[in-house]
Amino acid sequence: MKIKMKTPVVEIDGDEMTRVIWAKIKEQLIEPFVDLKSEYYDLSLENRDATDDGVTLDAAKAIKKHGVGVKCATITPDMKDVKMRGLKKAWPTPNGQIRAYLDGTVFRKSVILKNLPPGVRSWKKPITIGRHAYGDIFKNKELLMPGPGKLEMVYTPSDGSEPLVVHVDDITEPCMVSAHMNMESSARSFARACINMALDQKTELWFGCKDTISKTYHGRFREIFKEEVEARKDDFAEAGVGYITDLLIDDAIARSVRHEGGFLWACMNYEGDMMSDMVGSGFGSLGLMTSVLVSPDGKYEYEAAHGTVTRHYARHLEGEATSTNPTATLFAWTGGLAKRGELDGISELTKFAGKLESSLTETIESGTATGDIIGQTDPRIEKAATLDEFMDEIEKRLKKKV
Ligand code: NAP
Ligand code: MG
Repeated sequence: MKIKMKTPVVEIDGDEMTRVIWAKIKEQLIEPFVDLKSEYYDLSLENRDATDDGVTLDAAKAIKKHGVGVKCATITPDMKDVKMRGLKKAWPTPNGQIRAYLDGTVFRKSVILKNLPPGVRSWKKPITIGRHAYGDIFKNKELLMPGPGKLEMVYTPSDGSEPLVVHVDDITEPCMVSAHMNMESSARSFARACINMALDQKTELWFGCKDTISKTYHGRFREIFKEEVEARKDDFAEAGVGYITDLLIDDAIARSVRHEGGFLWACMNYEGDMMSDMVGSGFGSLGLMTSVLVSPDGKYEYEAAHGTVTRHYARHLEGEATSTNPTATLFAWTGGLAKRGELDGISELTKFAGKLESSLTETIESGTATGDIIGQTDPRIEKAATLDEFMDEIEKRLKKKV
């Protein structure tokens, strides 16, 4: 008897190797056991182009409606892609758009395995990265100034009062220019999401930025973050959870590699992008890094932190059996199903997700793993499993559990 669902998960399909993995996980490891209710959105680059990217907004709206989404990695096209694939334009990143629509915060955490000691010797517990998913250079306007001229920032208040002009520089030669911004309300929702997550997980909360240099932009961001934390200080005390909100970002990075882990590191957008990759590969592989976008009103989108693994896809198209790691993509599915079960009161579904996760971790811990991680396993796994061999092993274990 398959497990029944009440409300759909919003299923957001993607591109290249992860699209291949997506279909395999669904067919081999979910649909035989769950009567899967999903509302499907095809965010392949092809379909985004065909729908003038309308499908991306539709998917974001569906998450807002149903509360839980699972997303496959997608290509963010550059000008080279536009030419090569004949696209109408270089469509913006779907992830960025969905995050902006939901005003969400992204939390990333690595799957920890007994036989995979982290690259950083001091790390014993997972490090959760909370990435502020709005603004900064991800929402900038850029300009190439071809020659000498005056560069100014102008703020024209809507109430008709006197514009504010900031003189940036007198340009004497060609320059590249970037203007970025952020919203105070968004920084505040970010702080709140991080605080809730830290209290929920009972992990120490860190915040670092560069307000010694960026005294106004980063300075205001930190001020807001601290206000929100201070407002919850009784909750922190009661939960026995600590917080450090005075770190400079470079100091936070230095500390993080000497620390045993087990903390939630709240990062601004750009730093969060970098640090999640650093922490992800430090714990083994990008293929093990899971990710969840949480909105202030409690909507969830689960995904893998890595991209579409283009190089593997090229080999897959040539008929090679690649050794691509499906872990993070599988954990996106289990995260979404477990949350759906929790919200809809279907404990069977949440339990199934747990069994699927442990089938995967046990597979690796008993010696079957993909090429990206075997080099770091201890005891050393000599032979890399292909994606299919790895999936079959998970399936075998799962069948025994359900
Ligand atoms: P990537 O797809 O994450 O891959 C980078 C490299 O990391 C791979 O070539 C592979 O190394 C290794 N890797 C990543 N995931 C792996 C896995 N599951 N198993 C085994 N190895 C893995 O990043 P990218 O090459 O920079 O980007 C490719 C495309 O993905 C781009 O179009 C980009 O825009 C997009 N992207 C999407 C998202 C998203 O939707 N969330 C995130 C990032 C990037 P080896 O080739 O050395 O084996
Ligand atoms: Mg990144």
